[in-house]
Amino acid sequence: MQNATMTAEIVSVGTELLLGQIVDTHAPRMAQILADCGIGCSRRTTIGDNWDRLVGALKESLERSDVVITIGGLGPTVDDLTRDAIAVALGDELEVVPEVGEKLRKFFSLRNIPWNETIGRQAQKPTSAKLIENPNGTAPGLFCEKSGKVVIALPGPKGEFDPMADGPVREILSRLQGDQVIHSRVLRICNMGESQVELLIRDLMDGDSPSVAPYAHLGEVHLRVTARAASVDAANTIIDPMEEEIRRRVGSNVFGTDGTSLEQAVVDLLLERGATVSVAESMTGGELAARLSSGPGSSRVFLGGVVTYNSDTKQILVGVRQSSLDEFGPVSEPVAAEMAEGIRSALATTYALSITGNAGPTSDVGDKPVGMVFMACSGPGGTKVEEVRYRGLRQDIRRRATQTALVMLREELLGK
Ligand code: ATP
Ligand code: MG
Repeated sequence: MQNATMTAEIVSVGTELLLGQIVDTHAPRMAQILADCGIGCSRRTTIGDNWDRLVGALKESLERSDVVITIGGLGPTVDDLTRDAIAVALGDELEVVPEVGEKLRKFFSLRNIPWNETIGRQAQKPTSAKLIENPNGTAPGLFCEKSGKVVIALPGPKGEFDPMADGPVREILSRLQGDQVIHSRVLRICNMGESQVELLIRDLMDGDSPSVAPYAHLGEVHLRVTARAASVDAANTIIDPMEEEIRRRVGSNVFGTDGTSLEQAVVDLLLERGATVSVAESMTGGELAARLSSGPGSSRVFLGGVVTYNSDTKQILVGVRQSSLDEFGPVSEPVAAEMAEGIRSALATTYALSITGNAGPTSDVGDKPVGMVFMACSGPGGTKVEEVRYRGLRQDIRRRATQTALVMLREELLGK
């Protein structure tokens, strides 16, 4: 079976998934493998260990899609229904595979576990199935081809699922689809909201290969550009001109691609310019320092910083004036500026960043409302201060503040 636009569905089986007791990590992994193999994943379903619903879900998936991949429920216990349900959904009988039965008997007698009929169920397979070897467990996987449809069944335990999915199943899937990949590149954008970005690229979002889709993250927008092609290289040649066009429209707010974090982009710019930076933080408690020190090359550009979490330490460590604190309060433009200037001169760095604000959840910083934050960037050209009002959770406000501070430094480095 070869098909230009094969579609697949993933059916995760297990009541513990529905109860929220375990998180379905296998299905996303499977979806990535499908994309690598050029097969579009059109739907994911989660079903409990319930016979009627499982058979129903499998039948529906088989009607809609070319490939159905099940995860879990292949074990020996009575709530492991997947094997039998696949047989019914495909209109197959179950047959015993003697070699598997033999292996199981040996396995269990070696461990002195008495044999019983439910264990024996793992030696059965639907008539149209071939077995997928499971070197790390007792239940083999299944690969069924019938009436132009494919069903693949994988066991739930991670140590069994991962090697089978990445090995034999990946091979089967790429053979099914022939030479195709679905490959994506993510362009990361700072300093703009999702709707602003969308306005600039709206017409580019109608394409198919490459397709362009925006995702909002905390303080960032990601544009995923995806192409379907015969190889990753071929996909990249489709993606390259689209990236160029997006960069032409969005400008220097595109700070990186794929895994490049904003802090890494800033550290790279500092390295390029031979510049250094230090930080003085209040509300973010060191998060900005943590971000600036997280990547390769940091030690050559990030010299250090202080957490000045109350008014006294703002005075003692970075020389904020008592009069500024009295007159304007710790969450204020002058204090932010003095914090940045203080640490910059103490550590003799090219640039310094500071953050002071009220992250909430209660309003206990004088008369300054929750979410009010001042950020300063001090450098050879002087000191700039930005005032913002964030909404949201405490940790989100802290994260956004570090994001804005990094953007300020980036703008400064780009001479904007
Ligand atoms: P077993 O032989 O262990 O019974 P099984 O194929 O029947 O294997 P399940 O009983 O459905 O698999 O799940 C066994 C364990 O595998 C679960 O308790 C869970 O830890 C893990 N697991 C199952 N499905 C998933 C999933 N979709 N994502 C992550 N982990 C999973
Ligand atoms: Mg089980």
